[in-house]
Amino acid sequence: MQFVNSWPRVQVPPLAGERVPVMLYDAVADSVREVAPPDGIASLYVCGITPYDATHLGHAATYLAFDTLNRALRQSGAEVRFAENITDVDDPLLERAERDRVDWQQLAQSQTDLFRSDMEQLRIIAPDSFVRVQDAIFEIGQAVAQLLGDGFAYSVPTTDAADDDIYLDLQAVQARTPYEIGAISHFSPEELAAAFVEFGGDPNRPGKRCPLDPLLWRAARVNEPSWKAADGIPQGRPGWHVECSVIATGTLPVATQGALITIQGGGRDLLYPHHEMSAAHVSALTGREFAGHFTHAGLVAYQGEKMSKSLGNLVLVSKLVAEGHDPMAVRLAVLAHHYRSSWEWFTADLDAAHSRLTRWRVAAHRAAAADVAAAAQSTPRRQLRTAIANDLDTPAMIEIVDAWAEQAHPQADVIEAVDALLGVQLLPGN
Ligand code: ZN
Repeated sequence: MQFVNSWPRVQVPPLAGERVPVMLYDAVADSVREVAPPDGIASLYVCGITPYDATHLGHAATYLAFDTLNRALRQSGAEVRFAENITDVDDPLLERAERDRVDWQQLAQSQTDLFRSDMEQLRIIAPDSFVRVQDAIFEIGQAVAQLLGDGFAYSVPTTDAADDDIYLDLQAVQARTPYEIGAISHFSPEELAAAFVEFGGDPNRPGKRCPLDPLLWRAARVNEPSWKAADGIPQGRPGWHVECSVIATGTLPVATQGALITIQGGGRDLLYPHHEMSAAHVSALTGREFAGHFTHAGLVAYQGEKMSKSLGNLVLVSKLVAEGHDPMAVRLAVLAHHYRSSWEWFTADLDAAHSRLTRWRVAAHRAAAADVAAAAQSTPRRQLRTAIANDLDTPAMIEIVDAWAEQAHPQADVIEAVDALLGVQLLPGN
């Protein structure tokens, strides 16, 4: 599997002092549980963008949530391995390219470049593995062939292609592995059916064994990209969910027992079918559970509706930066909301973040100029660690720094903690 370049590394100051174990919400348990990385190595997979509407504030909120998690885990003493994909082989991108009469590769490339520069501006820690689906096609094809050979997948006849399509047999997966449908989303049968259709599923396709079985491999069609990826399967391209299953388990260090990776993350709209189906594929491929935690960021609305390209209400990070907004103010405006909440973007939030950033920077200059020998770990710095480890409570962290900035003699060690934990540099070059 090939990796593509991500973006320049962000320096995260290592924090001396007491480490705080991370408590994080897990959708399966539907509660906040401690993250216990095996051998101190936390493997984090975050579903990447479909590169056609990069990077709106909904994306930014998701990647900032998991960047905060990355920082929380680091302060807890864990070594973090982070992988992210680029969903560049999928219907929404191909449909957009066709509608706009552009080459899908060029569209994906330009949008991925924009995403990289937005991530860099927002000071998001780059993934160790950043993988385009088109660079993982052969591994994905092998996995599909294995599922077919093991009786976890079946062929469905086509009317518009020379070969059959291949679907995952969810009932077989449930009968023979630990996977259970609904375990992550807790959706009712009606909700499962509705969300399956909403995200491109085809419950009524003739020849399927179960309406919710997801597409694993789509046989080649005219004018669609396709690959001869593995023996035993036709020329074609992968379905969406198996892409992430293979990229996550193929790039991250996997635990020798228990769940394979530590955390699977993404936006809440990926809960089902995407994360459930990815987990089903991993279960069928390995006989094991995919992730120890399934964690999701809330959705961001604008002008009363979910931010989406089809509604035309996108607020783009690149546009805010081009208008002269400090990317650190954008970062703070997003982090003022708890990652699990869904919220609406208002321009006033950005104004508030600008004045907050100014107050913090003034305090940082005062703290640095005072040159008072700092305590090993000041109270606000300890409080910041406790808050980030408490299910990434960034609103509480911001209150702590607000109070610090109001002090007559703000402690200098908080500057480094704000950089390490909130990802905001208060002094140039610190
Ligand atoms: Zn994914």
